[in-house]
Amino acid sequence: MKTKEIVARARALAEPFRITDGDHFRLKDVDPGNTLDLDSEDKPRAKEALAMGIGALAELQDMLYAQDRWAVLLVFQAMDAAGKDGTIKHVMSGVNPQGVQVYSFKAPSDEDLDHDFLWRSAKVLPERGRIGIFNRSYYEETLVVRVHPQLLARQKLPPELVSKNIWDERHKDIRCFERYLTRNGVVIVKFFLHVSKGEQKKRFLERLQKKDKNWKFSANDIKEREFWNDYQEAYEDTIRSTATKDAPWYVVPADNKWFTRVIVAAAIVETLGSLGLHYPIVEGEKRKDLERARGMLLGGGEKE
Ligand code: ATP
Ligand code: MG
Repeated sequence: MKTKEIVARARALAEPFRITDGDHFRLKDVDPGNTLDLDSEDKPRAKEALAMGIGALAELQDMLYAQDRWAVLLVFQAMDAAGKDGTIKHVMSGVNPQGVQVYSFKAPSDEDLDHDFLWRSAKVLPERGRIGIFNRSYYEETLVVRVHPQLLARQKLPPELVSKNIWDERHKDIRCFERYLTRNGVVIVKFFLHVSKGEQKKRFLERLQKKDKNWKFSANDIKEREFWNDYQEAYEDTIRSTATKDAPWYVVPADNKWFTRVIVAAAIVETLGSLGLHYPIVEGEKRKDLERARGMLLGGGEKE
């Protein structure tokens, strides 16, 4: 199948999960177990579609790199065990590692806390021609920091600047930041991998049972689980306030990993496919240089 056709299919597949205007968004309208009309018997077909998406992505990314104009920022947010790491690993598996920059955001350092909240993200934005992946991101600033007010207290903000509107203000600042970036050629796509509480429990139990998964388990994950509803509310408000046409959110059902990966791959293919990417056209003096070089190589103009 031609890349153009794959992009068209990807667009149709990803479209139902894209939020470009948060006004009417409700998290409870998204079923984490949704797999569209595909059931587990369709898994092989879904895997084929993923493989096709990965192939198309490799091709598009090669052009993105060669053209060196756009940068792409993919933001991944989710509750623990929703499958961020696995999705990133699988979806990006065909892409040239030189063209991708992954950054995982952990709790902020003392140096981070000595700056405004976007500072550490701004430092690691993707270069032109590259795909940057934020595994967690500045969105933690209206999620974990909102759920745990003591984290906000650590940020050393002047007290008179911390009002009850702080989350609205942060959403607004994030919107402005993202608009600024998109105006500068950074294409932003945000993913919320929406897992259910029941599926998270299943995955935690698996991490506890399987020796090769033990390392993934963190006691803190269980503590955060107790704040499940607070997180869901914070996610809903954040998505409602920051979904825009220029920087959409994809809210992707995450109870079935095979489905999550297909949709994420489709959304990325769709995004790159809409940029009209092409290899740079070599003209003028540069074309003459190429012709001269060809002549030298073929016509014996170089010493053996
Ligand atoms: P995994 O568990 O799959 O390895 P992870 O993304 O959960 O990946 P962890 O090291 O477990 O990585 O967790 C990182 C922690 O850092 C999360 O609990 C997250 O909420 C926290 N964190 C990230 N950004 C911020 C922030 N700005 N302020 C406070 N905490 C943050
Ligand atoms: Mg974790």
